[in-house]
Amino acid sequence: MSRLAQTAGLTDVQREILSTVRDFVDKEIIPVATELEHRDEYPQAIVDGLKELGLFGLMIPEEYGGLGESLLTYALCVEEIARGWMSVSGIINTHFIVAYMLKQHGTQEQKEHFLPRMALGEVRGAFSMSEPALGSDVSAITSKAVRDGDEYVLNGQKMWLTNGGTSTLVAVLTRSDEGHPEGTAPHKSMTTFLVEKEPGFGEVRPGLTIPGKIDKMGYKGVDTTELIMDGLRIPANRVLGGDTGRGFYQMMDGVEVGRVNVAARGCGVAQRAFELGVSYAQQRHTFGKPIAQHQAIQFKLAEMATKVEAAHAMMVNAARKKDSGERNDLEAGMAKYLASEYCKEVVEDAFRIHGGYGFSKEYEIERLYREAPMLLIGEGTAEIQKMIIGRRLLEEYRFQG
Ligand SMILES: Cc1cc2nc3c(=O)[nH]c(=O)nc-3n(C[C@H](O)[C@H](O)[C@H](O)COP(=O)(O)OP(=O)(O)OC[C@H]3O[C@@H](n4cnc5c(N)ncnc54)[C@H](O)[C@@H]3O)c2cc1C
Repeated sequence: MSRLAQTAGLTDVQREILSTVRDFVDKEIIPVATELEHRDEYPQAIVDGLKELGLFGLMIPEEYGGLGESLLTYALCVEEIARGWMSVSGIINTHFIVAYMLKQHGTQEQKEHFLPRMALGEVRGAFSMSEPALGSDVSAITSKAVRDGDEYVLNGQKMWLTNGGTSTLVAVLTRSDEGHPEGTAPHKSMTTFLVEKEPGFGEVRPGLTIPGKIDKMGYKGVDTTELIMDGLRIPANRVLGGDTGRGFYQMMDGVEVGRVNVAARGCGVAQRAFELGVSYAQQRHTFGKPIAQHQAIQFKLAEMATKVEAAHAMMVNAARKKDSGERNDLEAGMAKYLASEYCKEVVEDAFRIHGGYGFSKEYEIERLYREAPMLLIGEGTAEIQKMIIGRRLLEEYRFQG
């Protein structure tokens, strides 16, 4: 166990789960991550291992076959996994968001239909809000669902689906005008559809095409795709929660827990960068001594470790707040913002400590350097987090004069 990023007050069960996951990361993920990432290869053996550990059902209630664990347990597992390879945490993240949305907002029939198979990792979730012309401004969504008897007909193009190819259940957010006349506020005329499909690329269901993988600078191995709906027919009982017009709120609820998750990923990647930096600094000699003995490098290590600790503490605080049943959008926004910015900075410092070797694909830090920027974007950019934080602060500190 490392000295940094410890969490006080965990139960024996939480400690046992974390120790099992850490062991799995050290033995099964870290040794193969960089090679698979360079080949942009889907880590099937790792995913099978995670299924066996029950990680796909970690937060799904026990009555549906999951482990019924808290958001904190989940976030700490994500931190460990991202320490090994961030792409693997991406594979379980969208699954977790869809399972959470079903648990919170699904009808009884929807929960019984999907959650037991999601807990086993047989049904795998992805979620889709973004479109080619929008990401931050979700209210501008143009893809549309129109009622036709007992079905809805969906048309439109979606962008940036993490696990778009490998998933078999996509929560898709579209505009739906039924019952919401022209002029209804955009966020009140959106609906989440539970879209089942075959895994893979091409036409994966009549009217639904997943064109192929987007070629990315990092975060490889996990597939990120577009999704095209052209007359896609979805039965009315696959509207999440049964009622149209609730989709925006359901997705925002999902993204809120997703933010804790992205913060946890930032913590994990930063920890790994620190481990690589502190190890290299003691092996590389310049001017007659290990570079760790130069004060400038020690200062870097000190700053990196302080950032790792601070980000971890904020992430744990945000998760615990949600677990206690309280609103946590302020804490989740702050944790996501700070952890992703610190992650980028810690990775850059570790990269600099490596000198020229950091630029070589033989060194793990090169991969982390390409992965960290994704955390600045996913689940809302830094600017969007600051907008959320700022608005909430003005609510809390309303001028009384
Ligand atoms: C690898 C990857 C995986 C992803 N996975 C998913 C997924 O699974 N599902 C999904 O739905 N989406 C996913 N996304 C999309 C992601 O959520 C969006 O990229 C993100 O929300 C930003 O949207 P955008 O790219 O359209 O940028 P834009 O919204 O166009 O923003 C561009 C820039 O303008 C800034 N900006 C925007 N509005 C404001 C404002 N009001 N004030 C100040 N600055 C502003 C932004 O911060 C940013 O710097 C993924 C993206 C990536 C890169």
